[in-house]
Amino acid sequence: MSKKHVEKSTQSRVVPGDKIAVIEEFLPDETCFEQDGSILSMTTGEVSPDLKKHKITVKPIKRVLQLRRGDTGVGNVVYVKKQIASVDIHRINNREVPLPINSILHVSEASRRFVKNMYEVTRPGDWLKFKIVRTMKPVYISLIGDDLGVVIAQCNHCGHDLVFFRPNALKCQNCNLIQNRVTAKSFGKLVTSFTRTSQNETR
Ligand SMILES: [Zn+2]
Repeated sequence: MSKKHVEKSTQSRVVPGDKIAVIEEFLPDETCFEQDGSILSMTTGEVSPDLKKHKITVKPIKRVLQLRRGDTGVGNVVYVKKQIASVDIHRINNREVPLPINSILHVSEASRRFVKNMYEVTRPGDWLKFKIVRTMKPVYISLIGDDLGVVIAQCNHCGHDLVFFRPNALKCQNCNLIQNRVTAKSFGKLVTSFTRTSQNETR
């Protein structure tokens, strides 16, 4: 790839307010606007000039994530009912999701062993490792699989961090209450690598 080409492709990605051309060269469309003789982008995207027609447009960058069955991810539990939990997906295949995707965990997908209700599986605020079982809306996730389950949890009673007690049971370091969860093998190991540094880790 030539140097000229590299420069051109770096400049072609713009954010709102970036200058993309001058008014003598191109006619702006609805994705950009004119200011003091310059054409500025109104959106985040790739600049696409039509040299023949002297028109310029910014093609928005698609931020839609393609989910696939079997993809693994990390999500935060929003609420829990007897049969289901609502989970916001924050990561898929180790990549941060630009906008969290809502998903449903059904109690039948919570564990290989029999669990009576979702309160034995997870609680609001927990972080889970899961796999995708349905990609269409509503997205469904499952905890059945290698190293899937709760990875971070807080005490139901006092809100303190829970620590591993034995598989599927966690203990509060503050009030000593032992609580049921469907735990992942890597319980506790994602605390620092995910929730605390996810903001800048993938940049
Ligand atoms: Zn506690």
